[in-house]
Amino acid sequence: MIEGYIHSIESMGLVDGPGIRTVVFFQGCRLRCRYCHNPDTWAMRSGKEQIFTPEQLVNKLLRFKPYFGDNGGVTFSGGEPLLQKDFLCEVLLLCKHAGIHTCIDTAGCGCGGYEEIL
Ligand code: SF4
Repeated sequence: MIEGYIHSIESMGLVDGPGIRTVVFFQGCRLRCRYCHNPDTWAMRSGKEQIFTPEQLVNKLLRFKPYFGDNGGVTFSGGEPLLQKDFLCEVLLLCKHAGIHTCIDTAGCGCGGYEEIL
C-alpha cells in the first residue's frame, strides 16, 4: 500500500497557481536553500506529518472542489513532492479522474526515494 507523508494542507491558496487552490505541502526535501520558506518540511519524518493513502488524500481534496470555480484546483508543493513520486502519481491520476485541476511546485530534485534520506 502506498502512503504519503504530508506536512500540511492549506485550503485557500491564492499565489500557488491559477485561481483558488488547495495547497498540499509534502514532507521532505533534500535541498537546503538559504531562502527556503518551509524549512520545517525538510525532514522526511518530523513526527507531526499526516499520513495518507492516495484515496484518503483525494477524498479530502474533493471537499474543497466547490471552491475551485472554473480555473482553481490543487497544487502539490513542499518540501519536494517528487521525492514521493509513486504516491504523487497515484494522487494525480485520481485527481484527473475526479476533474480536479493540478499543479506541481517542484525544484525538480526528485531523484531517489525518501528511504535513502531517512
Ligand atoms: S527546494 Fe524548496 S522546500 Fe526544498 S529547501 Fe529549497 S526552497 Fe525549501
